Amino acid sequence: MEVRQEAIVKKTDYKNFPMVPRVVFGRGSFDQLGDILMPERKHSEAPFIFLVDDVFEGNELVFRIPLIFNDQLIFISAQEEPKTSQVDALVKKIREDFHELPSGIVGIGGGTLLDLAKAVSILLTNKGSSSEYQGWDLVHNPSIYHAGIPTISGTGAEVSRTTVLLGPEKKLGINSDYTTFNQVVLDPDLTQGVSREQWFYTGMDCYIHCIESLNGTYLNAFSQSYGEKALELCKEVYLGNLTADESHEKLMMASWHGGMSIAYSQVGVAHAMSYGLGYLLGVKHGIGNCLVFQHLEEFYPEGVALFNRMRQKHGIRLPKGICANLTDGDFETMISVSLAMEPLWENALGENWREIITPEKLEYIYRKI
Ligand code: NAD
Ligand code: ZN
Repeated sequence: MEVRQEAIVKKTDYKNFPMVPRVVFGRGSFDQLGDILMPERKHSEAPFIFLVDDVFEGNELVFRIPLIFNDQLIFISAQEEPKTSQVDALVKKIREDFHELPSGIVGIGGGTLLDLAKAVSILLTNKGSSSEYQGWDLVHNPSIYHAGIPTISGTGAEVSRTTVLLGPEKKLGINSDYTTFNQVVLDPDLTQGVSREQWFYTGMDCYIHCIESLNGTYLNAFSQSYGEKALELCKEVYLGNLTADESHEKLMMASWHGGMSIAYSQVGVAHAMSYGLGYLLGVKHGIGNCLVFQHLEEFYPEGVALFNRMRQKHGIRLPKGICANLTDGDFETMISVSLAMEPLWENALGENWREIITPEKLEYIYRKI
């Protein structure tokens, strides 16, 4: 006699996140890029498109890019953060230049270039403008192959499932399972030329990811394990006595772990407010987070104290008076952009965040910047 038992399945809704399936780590590993891409080449008509930060124009790095067949190299300035219109223009150009889809997109640079590479790879297989996909899980078709090669450490863009874009209506990421890179090459030597200020701002993005994740209400063992490791590495890099090589290597791994930490939680107050600055004034992510974070001792007392120690040790002077000449309307814009980041506020302050953070309070903090 057959005995059949119905499965007793309790429905849960834990997120099922993609991770970067392949990663190379090591000084000089950039020179393996040709071998890494070779099996991904569809045929000689389907090129690889290399999107490269124009800070490298004329640099020896460019001559090490494994260009063959009709591969294309496009230099892009990272002076401004990626825009949806810029992504759309790049996609249009690639479609016009080639009859077929490329074999893949390779982004070489900081968060700006990594995000552009992610977005272009998605839009090549999805119709319309990139602004239509800003949000969560709006992408229908898998992207083409894309690889990310960071040349500055901190954002975690190399591991994340988002690409942050400034659109006509909002600054918001394309968060999707297809956003995550297929391949990442972590070569700490590539981060050598970064200026001290930029090293601090982008590195502090990682530090702030840790503080916001570890002090958030969404915290769980997954996020904590990565966040604690990233924080430990940031302390070694910014307060310890490492050699330059060790420092490059450790900050690269801090960025990776910091990005992994927020995958399963969220960022918090500094990011929510920095988005307002970025949207209205074009203030870049790293420095924007620092400008806000210095005034958040109420929310992150220990984190801000340590931040100030790191800032002093490296002689970093943050600009002042950024919000000095803004109109009431400007403040309203920043406040509404910031308050729209609901998951960030909920992570930072809990379900009743609206009772703690009011428009008046936000204006008070913005006015200090
Ligand atoms: P960036 O890419 O904007 O670059 C900052 C500056 O450093 C630029 O002037 C660039 O030319 C320069 N630079 C980069 N590498 C260099 C090198 N090796 N030598 C000399 N100069 C170098 O900086 P970032 O802070 O890495 O990225 C910020 C961007 O990342 C923002 O657009 C932000 O929205 C995005 N971001 C994305 C995520 C994500 O998960 N997708 C997370 C955080 C931030
Ligand atoms: Zn960040």
